[in-house]
Amino acid sequence: MFEIVFLGTSASAPSAKRNLPAQVVMHDEYRFLIDCGEGTQRQILQSGIGFKRLNRILITHSHLDHILGLAGLLSTYMRWETIDELEIFAGKAALERISDLLYGVVLRGTTAPMPIRMRPISSGVFFEGEDFSVTAFPVQHRGPDCLGFIFQEKGRRPFLPEKAEALGIPSGPWRRDLVEGRAASLPNGQRIDPAEVLGEFRPGTRLVHIGDVGETDGLVEICRDADTLVIESTYLEEEAEMARHFAHMTAARAAALARQAGVKRLILTHISRRYREKEVLAEAQAVFQNVTVARDFDTFQVKHE
Ligand SMILES: [Zn+2]
Ligand SMILES: [Zn+2]
Repeated sequence: MFEIVFLGTSASAPSAKRNLPAQVVMHDEYRFLIDCGEGTQRQILQSGIGFKRLNRILITHSHLDHILGLAGLLSTYMRWETIDELEIFAGKAALERISDLLYGVVLRGTTAPMPIRMRPISSGVFFEGEDFSVTAFPVQHRGPDCLGFIFQEKGRRPFLPEKAEALGIPSGPWRRDLVEGRAASLPNGQRIDPAEVLGEFRPGTRLVHIGDVGETDGLVEICRDADTLVIESTYLEEEAEMARHFAHMTAARAAALARQAGVKRLILTHISRRYREKEVLAEAQAVFQNVTVARDFDTFQVKHE
């Protein structure tokens, strides 16, 4: 299971109710901050998440509404030293701009009390936990090296206790071996193959996060059957020309991607002040039913049902 907390859901500039883009994805003890618009640290505090273990930052692209908050966040981390190191994963162009911001403005020749690790990523797996991975993939927006992210739990075959009972397998190390896919030799000499007590393979939870994006070509397979797709929705179809010009989605196009890819739930973010939330929702819902327009501090659990 993954949990996602939206810290900022506005496009380009903040509004009275929406801060600039930022969200936290959590899985067990792991936490990833995706994008860090201006004012994100106050959103972190207000959400109750806190700064602890919030030391892995994933950046979708180099635009200011997605990175300016890193300066303030680093400044706070330097004062409080609440983390051991800071890791920033982003495309090359975004890392260059972030380096200018952090080294040219915040640090200016001084050294941070913790290591700051700039991790250039392009496409492919860039982080692996015990039972999940995080993958980057390229998306087309204004400027080079824009990325989306896939959070994927490993699939597994569930242990079926009723089968184990029927086979007379005692609890203890034998069951653990079988759960981990190894054959077990019972005290009575009987040998049990894992296939005898494991159910059908079940894919793990899949959460796809796409930041600013102008084209959905090539994204359908990436989003295929995702449990949740999070994607920007800056415009409505009445301004489809403008959306194309600035390489952003309309609500209808984001919903069409969700429908084509067969995702289970769609969450829209990066909402412009020019529209009312219910207009965005209505346009998307006409194309794809299970859709939510995220608000600041909304939290969603993402599970594979
Ligand atoms: Zn943006
Ligand atoms: Zn952008």
